[in-house]
Amino acid sequence: MECVTSEFPLLTGSYDLRLVALALLPALAMSYAVFELTERIMAARGRARAVWLACGVAAMGIGLWSSDYLSLLAFQLPVPIHYHYPTVIVALVVAIFAIMMGLPTTSQERRGIGRAIAASIVVGTAATVIPFLGIAAMRLPASVEHRWGLAVIAVGYAIVVCLLILVLVFVVLYRREPHVSGKMMGTVILGIAVAALPYLSMATVRFHPSNLAVDLKHTISRSWLGVVSITSTSLLILTGTIIASILEGMIESEQAIATAARYAELQFRTLAEAIPQIVWTAGADGITNYINQHWYEMTGTAVDGGLGKGWMEAVHPDDRDACWQKWKQCVRSGETFEIEYRLYDAAAKGFRWYLDRAVPLRDDSGAIVKWFGTCTDIDDQMHTQQLLEEQVKTHVAALVEANARLQEESIRDPLTGLYNRRYLEDSLQHEMRLAARAERGLGIIMLDLDHFKKFNDTYGHDAGDVVLRETAALFLKSVRAEDIVCRYGGEEFVIILPMAGFKTAYARAQRIREKVHEMNLLYLGKLVGKITVSAGVAGFPEHGIVATQLLKAVDAALYQAKREGRDRVVAAASGEHTVGTGSKSAGAG
Ligand code: GH3
Ligand code: MG
Ligand code: MG
Repeated sequence: MECVTSEFPLLTGSYDLRLVALALLPALAMSYAVFELTERIMAARGRARAVWLACGVAAMGIGLWSSDYLSLLAFQLPVPIHYHYPTVIVALVVAIFAIMMGLPTTSQERRGIGRAIAASIVVGTAATVIPFLGIAAMRLPASVEHRWGLAVIAVGYAIVVCLLILVLVFVVLYRREPHVSGKMMGTVILGIAVAALPYLSMATVRFHPSNLAVDLKHTISRSWLGVVSITSTSLLILTGTIIASILEGMIESEQAIATAARYAELQFRTLAEAIPQIVWTAGADGITNYINQHWYEMTGTAVDGGLGKGWMEAVHPDDRDACWQKWKQCVRSGETFEIEYRLYDAAAKGFRWYLDRAVPLRDDSGAIVKWFGTCTDIDDQMHTQQLLEEQVKTHVAALVEANARLQEESIRDPLTGLYNRRYLEDSLQHEMRLAARAERGLGIIMLDLDHFKKFNDTYGHDAGDVVLRETAALFLKSVRAEDIVCRYGGEEFVIILPMAGFKTAYARAQRIREKVHEMNLLYLGKLVGKITVSAGVAGFPEHGIVATQLLKAVDAALYQAKREGRDRVVAAASGEHTVGTGSKSAGAG
C-alpha cells in the first residue's frame, strides 16, 4: 500500500450489516464485563485480586479486539481484501495493553480526576491504535489515503469514551446498592460507544485503486468460518469470565452472611459467659440449644446435659410439670415466658428459688426465630418474703385477738365478769326494738344488795368483793342463756329478759331473791353474815316504750322496795299493768 492524495479516483466502500450487528455482541459483552469485573476486583484481595485482574484484562482485551476486527471485516470494497495476520496479532496485544491500563483505574478505591484523565488518554489512544492496525493489516490492490485531522478526532472520541466508562462505573458501582438496571443501562451506552470507534477510524481513511502488485505473504482472506470463530471465542471467554465473577460474588456474599452470623453468635456467647447469671437460648420449637456455664456449675450437670429437655432434670420435681406446661404454652403463643421454680444447687445439695424469664426473637415477618432466657436467683428474696408473710400473719392474728379482747373488756365488768352499764344501755335499746318488731314483751329487773356498806364495814372490802362475785354468779345461773345480766354500778345489777314478759320477769326476780337468801357465803374459810337483795321489776311496753323510761320505772320500783324494808321485789308502778306480790312485802300497786 502507498499513501496517495485525493485527486486520484476513489474506491467506494460499503458495510456488511450482518457483521456490523455481530460486532456489537462482543462490544456489549465487554461493556458488561467492565462493571462485573470491576466489582469483583474491588471485592477481592491479594492473589485473588491479581487473578481476577489478569482474567479480566485477557477476556476484555479479546472482547475489544474481536469487536474492532468484526467491524473492519464488515467493511467491503469492490476489490479483494487480505489481512496480514502478524499485524492483527499485534493489534490483539495492543487491545490487551489498553485494557491492562484501564481496568486497574476503574477498580481503584483512591481515584482522582487527574488520574482518570491520564488513564483515559493512554487507554483511548491505545484503543484507537487497534482499528488503525487493522487498516494497516489490509492487503488489497488499492492505496490508502490517511486524513490525520480526522484521525485526531477519532483519538479524542476514544479518550472521551474512556472517561465516560470511568464516570459510569463510578455512578453505577459506587452507589450504596448497585442495581442490575444501572449495570444494564451502562452496558448499552458503553457497548454502542465502543462499537462506534472502529467505524470512526475507518472514516478517516480513503482507498484509491492501484495497479501495484499486492504482497500476500502471511495473509488470510475474510471467511465466514473465521468470523464465526472470532465471535464465538471472544463471547465464550467473556461470558465465562462474567459468569465466574457473578458466581464468586454470590458465594462471597453468602460466606459473608455466614461469617457475620457466626460472629454475632460468638459475641452473644462471650457476653453470656461473662455475666454472673444463668443465660440460655432455645429454638423456635422450644428445644433448648444453649445454656451458659453458670447453670452447669450450679446444677452440677454434665456438659451439654441441659440441652433439649435435659434442663428439666435440675428443676424441683414438684415444679416440673407447671414449668413445662407454661413453657409449652409460651412456645405456642409466643408470649413472654416467666415462672418461679426451684433449681438444684449441687454445692448445697438442695434447691434454690429462681425466676426464669424468656422473650422470643422474631424475624421481619414476625415469625419466632429463637428464644433468649435468663434465670435469676431469687432464693433470698423468696425466704425474706415467706418470713415476712409469716410475721404479718402472726401479727394480724395477735391484733385480731387483742381487738376481740379489748372489745370484750370494753363491755365487761372486770370484778364480776358481767356486762357493764354501757353494754346494758346499748343492748336494752336493741332488745326493745326487736321486741317491738316481734310484738312481744320484755322484762327488766334491777337488783341492789341490802346494807352492803355495813357488810363491807364488818367484813372488809375484799370480803365485799367476794360477795359481789358470788351473787353475780348466782344471777347468771338463775337466768336463761338469752338473758343479759349486767353490773349496773357498785352493788347494783340489772337483768334484761328479752324473751320474757313482765310477769315472768317478776317471778324470776322473786326466785333470785329467794336464792340469795339461801346463799352461804365463805370468806377466808369462814362463814360471813347473810345478805339480802331488793329488786324492782318493769316490763315493755307496760312501763315504758323507750329505754330511759323503762330504766326510770324499774329504778323507782327498786327504790320503793328499799323504802318498804328491803329484801323484797316491787313491780313498777306506772303503766297499765300492776302486779303486787312479794314473799315478805306487798308489790307495787
Ligand atoms: P342500801 O340497803 O340502802 O342499799 O344500803 P347500802 O349500804 O347497800 O347502800 P349504800 O349506797 O349506802 O352503800 C353501798 C356500798 O357498796 C358502798 C360501798 O362501800 C359498797 N360498794 C360499792 N362498790 C363496791 C365494790 O366494788 N366492792 C366492795 N367491796 N364494795 C362496794
Ligand atoms: Mg345497797
Ligand atoms: Mg346501791
